[in-house]
Parts: sequence; structure tokens; C-alpha cells
Amino acid sequence: MGPPGAGKGTQAKAVADHFSVPAVSTGDIFRANVSGGTPLGVEAKRYMDAGEYVPDEVTNNMVRSRIAEPDAAGGFLLDGYPRTLAQVAELDGMLKAGEHDLDAVLVLTVDQEAVVARLLKRAEIEGRADDTEDVIRRRLEVYAEETEPLIAVYDERGIVVRVDGMGEIDEVQQRIFAALDDLQD
Ligand code: AMP
Repeated sequence: MGPPGAGKGTQAKAVADHFSVPAVSTGDIFRANVSGGTPLGVEAKRYMDAGEYVPDEVTNNMVRSRIAEPDAAGGFLLDGYPRTLAQVAELDGMLKAGEHDLDAVLVLTVDQEAVVARLLKRAEIEGRADDTEDVIRRRLEVYAEETEPLIAVYDERGIVVRVDGMGEIDEVQQRIFAALDDLQD
């Protein structure tokens, strides 16, 4: 978890590789559907372009079918999900049904101004439709309103691992591995 621009996607792939599990990124799946022009993509795009969340039901169903695929049977890493309290409840149900447990909720902490600068830079490089300044600000607001409260929920369960997300990609990656290794000891 972490605000837009915290580096979730980049770090998620590294962590997933390290543990030989698939990285399930709801943002990536939505973007693939948008590129492919599927009905899901057409629906998701409206929300994504405005910096709003795709409705829970759509997102939950997508995650449910993705984590039921054979490559996820031995575990998986979720990137960008859950993002709402309703998604937390749904995920709890899915995990129970699949006899999985959440081992850890990794939170990347970053400073807000740095995040905006990072996203504007990404906009130049990748040209994502949701990386314009107005949309970035809206995405940060939505994160603060809808997603940040989830950290407290998982804190109560004692599974939150906070890692400083500022600095070079490799540096952050080393911190993440160190924090997760501590957890396994
Ligand atoms: P991301 O790449 O994780 O920043 O996601 C890009 C966009 O996809 C978000 O701004 C949302 O519009 C949508 N999205 C991704 N994950 C979720 C989710 N868990 N719930 C609702 N919308 C999502």
C-alpha cells in the first residue's frame, strides 16, 4: 500500500519475483483491458481517467477470478488492492475460501510533494492518461479518503510492515527485503 507514485508497481514486481509468486496489480489489469478495448476496459477507463476508483463490485470480481488461476495457488502479491473498506471485506472472504492468509501488508511511506513530482515525471515518460496534474491531485485525495484508513484496519491485525519509500529504487528494495526477512525470522 501507499499513495499513487509511492513506487508500488516497481517494488511489487521485485518482491513477487523474490518470492516466486505472481504480482497481481489491479491497475495493470485495468490498463491491459483498456488497451484491449474489452467491455471491462471501456467501463474502467471512465473512472481511471478521472482519478476515481473503479466500482468495488467490478474490481472485486476481477481479483476473485485472477487469484483463482493456477499460478496463484501457492500465493500471490496484491498491488493496488484492496483500496476500500468494502474491498477489505471481500478480500477476507476470498482468502478464507481459498485457504490463504495475508502474511503482511507492506506500506511504502513517502512525502507528498515528492510523490507529485515523481508522478509528473512519469507522465512525461509514460504518457499515462491519469498522470496529469489535476488527476494526480484527485488521485491523492481519493487515496487519503478511501485507502489510507485501511492501514489502521490492518494495523489492528498486527500485519503492517512500514518501509521508507524515499530514495533510489534499489535502496527501497533492499529495505523491503530486510523488513520482510525480519518478519520470517
Ligand atoms: P494504479 O496503477 O494502481 O495507480 O491504478 C490506476 C487506476 O486503476 C486507479 O486510479 C483506479 O482508477 C483503478 N484501480 C486500480 N486498483 C483499484 C482498486 N483496487 N479499486 C478501484 N480502482 C482501482
